[in-house]
Amino acid sequence: MLRKRSMKLGDLKVHTLAIPLREPIQFSWEPFPHPVYVFSIVEVEAGGFKGYSAIEFGAAYKHFLETTVKLTIQGLDIEIEDVDARLLEVGSWAIQRLGALEVAIWDLIAKREGLPLYRLLGGGRRKVKVYASTGRLLSAEETVKMVEKYAELGIDVVKLRFRRERINEDLEVLKAVAREFSDVKISVDANQAWSYTPPYWSRKKAMKVAKELENFEVLWLEEPLWKDDVEGYRWLRENTSIEISGGELEHGIQRFRMLIEGGAFDIVQADAVYSNGIQECRKVAALAEAFNLKFMPHAWDPGLGWLANLHLAASLPEKLCPYIETPLDPLWWNEVMFGVLNGEVELEKGYAKLPEQPGLGFEPDEEKMKKFRIA
Ligand SMILES: [Mg+2]
Repeated sequence: MLRKRSMKLGDLKVHTLAIPLREPIQFSWEPFPHPVYVFSIVEVEAGGFKGYSAIEFGAAYKHFLETTVKLTIQGLDIEIEDVDARLLEVGSWAIQRLGALEVAIWDLIAKREGLPLYRLLGGGRRKVKVYASTGRLLSAEETVKMVEKYAELGIDVVKLRFRRERINEDLEVLKAVAREFSDVKISVDANQAWSYTPPYWSRKKAMKVAKELENFEVLWLEEPLWKDDVEGYRWLRENTSIEISGGELEHGIQRFRMLIEGGAFDIVQADAVYSNGIQECRKVAALAEAFNLKFMPHAWDPGLGWLANLHLAASLPEKLCPYIETPLDPLWWNEVMFGVLNGEVELEKGYAKLPEQPGLGFEPDEEKMKKFRIA
């Protein structure tokens, strides 16, 4: 009989860090450039183990977790099925969902079991193919240069951002990449589910773009419409051969069910730390599989958040989840992803190798964190 090793959740801390960037980074989906990148590392403790995770929120997130959430969860059993979805929902009520906390609990459980998280989840993939996700609206020439670096790493899919004022400007960049790299396939992200900044696309504009993308055999078009326009998503899917993807900002199994049943996506892109966590994402992945869709997690997260999505991907069949999104922008990759951790993921011939240490594989380094701590 399996011995249940009960552990109660103890302390919950959040370390808020600000990492200076070599130059301010302007993402396509935000109206302002980041001179520094602010994010939080979540730390949970139980039975002498510590579990970690990370998400891109700052001091308000820290405050909420260290007050309301801490008081709500302290003393609860950490077995993941006992971490009720409604408990994780307490996050949305005030500030954000609590996927990052759920991931830190997974990290802790995997350490207790002495297994890398993906193996605890039943996964057998030692490496997952990465696709290079660009984040900035660079010129055609700058984009080609960046893709050249990715191709040298053996990467065969790159995601471009389409958020310039005119579609033709976006298309010029895509054409330049398609012309230069016959072995690199392209996907396109319009980030229309984000409410931050124009241009906002109509259904007709999204269709016009999809039709253009058909000529370049683009792999998928991501978030071409506002996230609540389920009918629009379905209409688009039914009228273009380009696969339509989305779901990175969503949380809650019923919401995913509504989107999937509504025919919104060919590829579902839940994120382990933006949603209610790995457990929810695995249920969403199963739902996607049952509907003959693909599941590929969104993963533009600081190091430990990205790692959570890597383990999630490695726990799923390759057919269902062929790639992990990887933010390889040189302004971002080393400093923000691994700058405060005690190790770094190896990329090899287009794959990310799964760390074999227990848990997520890497932990924050106290000394390194000290340098960047703001709260
Ligand atoms: Mg996206």
